[in-house]
Parts: sequence; structure tokens; C-alpha cells
Amino acid sequence: MTLRLPDAADRATALKVTSDPDQFQLETKLVRGGHARSHHGEMTEALYMTQAYAYDNAEMADGRLGGTMPGFTYSRYGNPTVEIFERRMAVLEGAEACFSTGTGMAAVFASMACFLDSGDHVVAPRALFGSCFYVLNTLFPRWGITATFVDGTDMNEWRRAVTPKTKAFFLETPANPTLELVDLKAVIALGKEVGAKVIVDNVFASPILQKPIAMGADIVVYSATKHIDGQGRCLGGVVLADEKFCTEKLQPFLRHTGPALSPFNAWLLLKGLETLSLRVERAQSSATAIAEFLEKQQPLVSRVRYPTLPSFPQHNLAKAQMSGGGTMVCFELAGGKEAAFIFENALELIDIANNLGDSKSMITHPMTTTHRAIAEEDRAKMGITQGMIRLSVGLESAVDLQRDLAQALAVLGKRG
Ligand SMILES: *Cc1c(COP(=O)(O)O)cnc(C)c1O
Repeated sequence: MTLRLPDAADRATALKVTSDPDQFQLETKLVRGGHARSHHGEMTEALYMTQAYAYDNAEMADGRLGGTMPGFTYSRYGNPTVEIFERRMAVLEGAEACFSTGTGMAAVFASMACFLDSGDHVVAPRALFGSCFYVLNTLFPRWGITATFVDGTDMNEWRRAVTPKTKAFFLETPANPTLELVDLKAVIALGKEVGAKVIVDNVFASPILQKPIAMGADIVVYSATKHIDGQGRCLGGVVLADEKFCTEKLQPFLRHTGPALSPFNAWLLLKGLETLSLRVERAQSSATAIAEFLEKQQPLVSRVRYPTLPSFPQHNLAKAQMSGGGTMVCFELAGGKEAAFIFENALELIDIANNLGDSKSMITHPMTTTHRAIAEEDRAKMGITQGMIRLSVGLESAVDLQRDLAQALAVLGKRG
């Protein structure tokens, strides 16, 4: 991976985790990957809130801007704190290179806009995050880039949608909010066969539970806003890919269009990464218990979706490509939208909010919030029903969360 940090800033302690990450376990990479200390030897990552960098002389300015000397020039192009975060993400994901952005959507957009040309074609599952769907369905067509949306679980549909102009597959697995899975191995193999880059939005699984780059995906994107920050503070995004793609396509696109991540937010995200595995594992164990609890609440709860539940239609696939079911639970209330609203309003601890991956648990009614802009017919095809509820499980005690869900279901039972 290209290191823009000058050699003088790198101290031996952390270098090995960055230069030879295979020797280290995930938890060590989360805490030490990419770390570069200044001459002060600070323990924690330094926060460089600076726009520009002074050169010792005109020759240095010439060399840095000409790319013949290492070092920073301007924070839209690169910043030491931001670069520590990018290096840590690359080490964590096992990617050759990483670039960060100010939001997850900037990462999604850049991952495709940096290499797709007018006339190119993208295949994507229908079950997509609303803004990703907007980019593919509304924005790109204005520039002559078209998309075909398929049932992501049906490999025959993927294959049938491919045209000679297909340059990319874009997908999310598990998908929001139904937690439907895409078979990564099969889609990556098809992408290689037809020459389409496979781009995986890995937000729901987080870097802890699923490793698309190791499985052969070309590009992975994250909204770092979700589990990576995980404490409700800032927005951020990353794109991870091979060195050639990042240097030739992504870097010039980001430099000149300018969706740069703030150094302050990069610093928060670095602190988030240090506790990521602890948080995801804890929320996941609560989510598993909550999914099992909700399954016993029939007839009020008509269906529960959680990737590792034996009743989940793709639970074998979940076991094969994920190391756990994740932090999100999706369930359906038999009484439809009215029941969903009574239930949400009766919750006392869990907040009604449309974010996810936070330490505070949140509940969402996708039909009237995250997926409201989608036509009823398309929503039905995605499997989003009137009574569907999405729960992002946080770090509160699972006992307290379960009690809150139980008391809200009791309110619903009395009213229903
Ligand atoms: C939130 C989210 C995004 C967008 O990220 P922002 O940081 O909000 O821009 C993209 N994809 C998925 C799956 C998400 O959940």
C-alpha cells in the first residue's frame, strides 16, 4: 500500500502490524494497525487538524506535488490522521489499499463513479439501501450508465441480467432491512467469468463478521457511520480495493471531486475501531437471544428474520460466509402498520431512529422511514411488509432490551 507518511513519522512498534498483518490476529490489527507516531512518541493516534503543510524549501514543494518525494500537500489529497485510519482499515480488511470519504454514500458513489463510463451497465439486487438505489436507478441513468435489478438470491437472474456492457455488480449482504443474503462465492465467480467488478457494501456484517476481499471481491465499501464509529458520533465511509484500482481510478476521482473525511472524524473512527470486535460480538450475542425470544411471541409476531436462526431460509449460507448473525434483527407484526406504530410507541428504552450499528438500540419501521421513497410494488418485491420492524441491537443489557420488547408486545396484545 502506498505510504504517504514520511518515514520519520513511522516508529518500529506499530510498523509490523501494518507491513506484515498476516502475522497478527484481528483484535491486534484493530488496535495497532496503521499506527504511525510522530517524533513525540504519542501513545494514541495524533489528531492533525490542518488543511495545508509547509515545505522546508521550494524544491520540497516541487518534489511533493510532483510525487517524487513522500509527504502531504493538502488535506483534500491526504492527511496523517486520515491516513492512519485508512491504513488500519486496509490491514483489517486484508486489502492492498484504502481511501476514506466523508460519508458512506460518498464511498458507494465513488466506488462506481470513478471507473464507470457512459454506456456501461451494472447489475444489483433489488434489496438495496435507499440512497444506493437512487444512485443506480435515478442518477447514473442521467449519465448513460444503466442498471438491472434482480432477485439477489437467484443466481439465474444474476446471469440473465449480464450484458456485454456489464462492468459492475453492486450488492449488500445481509440486505437492509430483510437481512436477505447474496451468495458471495457464486456472485464473485460470475463477476470474474463475465469481467464485471464485484463491489460489496459490507455494512450490515461489519469487518468483523464477513471478509469479502478474502473471498475474491474486487471492492468493499463501508459506511463507517455504522458499526465502525458505533457510538453515534460522526459520519464516514471507506473504499477498499487493490493498489492499481485505487491509484489509477479512485485516488484521482477523490482528489478532484473532494468528499474528504475530516481528520477529527478519522480520529473518532480510529477510536471506534479499537473496540469494534468487542462491540459487535456483544451486540450480536444480544441480537441472537432477542431473535430467539421474538420467535416465541406468536401470534403477535408473525415472522422473525435473523441469519443464523434455524428458521432463516438461507441459514446455511449465513454459516458459510459469515462468522455470526450480526447485530440486526428483522421481524413482522401480524397487525400490520397499525400494530407496528402501537409497538414502537410503547417502547420505553429502545429509541425510534433510522440509524444502525450504534451502542444505543434503535427501532425502525422501514415502510414509513428508510424505504418510504420506494414504490409500494417495488417494496413488496423486496419483501418489505406493512408490519415489518427493523431492530438495531446495541450494547444495553440484553435482559433490559428483552424486557422492553416484552412490555411493548404486551401493550400491543391488549390493544390489538
Ligand atoms: C447507512 C448505509 C449507507 C450510507 O452510509 P452514510 O454514512 O449514511 O452515508 C450505505 N449502505 C448501507 C448498507 C447503509 O446501511
